[in-house]
Amino acid sequence: MMFVKFNIPLNPRHLLYGFDLKLTSHEALHGCEKEISISSWETCDECHGSGRDNRDDMCIVCVGEGRNQVVKKLKVVIPANVASGDILKIAGAGDAGGQGGDTGDLYIHLLS
Ligand SMILES: [Zn+2]
Repeated sequence: MMFVKFNIPLNPRHLLYGFDLKLTSHEALHGCEKEISISSWETCDECHGSGRDNRDDMCIVCVGEGRNQVVKKLKVVIPANVASGDILKIAGAGDAGGQGGDTGDLYIHLLS
């Protein structure tokens, strides 16, 4: 899992999935590991994101959407020396695009 630290405000249109994570000043200074639960869209296992079954009918699991909403647990590593307001980007941890679209990135807004 790769982190990119942003120092510039994000374009809201690119904020595919984001949330606030509260850190103590000790955690912000020394870094830490957090387990978070996020609700997100995952590519449908049944149709592998196409939204169609093998007879080209609508997939009954995702109802043609190509993705399903799930709650997933994620372990994130907060690097040392982050400041309140920093935004971490976790590439590929956001919502599945559905119907073959790209998986989005997850953004974490750090507060301390
Ligand atoms: Zn499906």
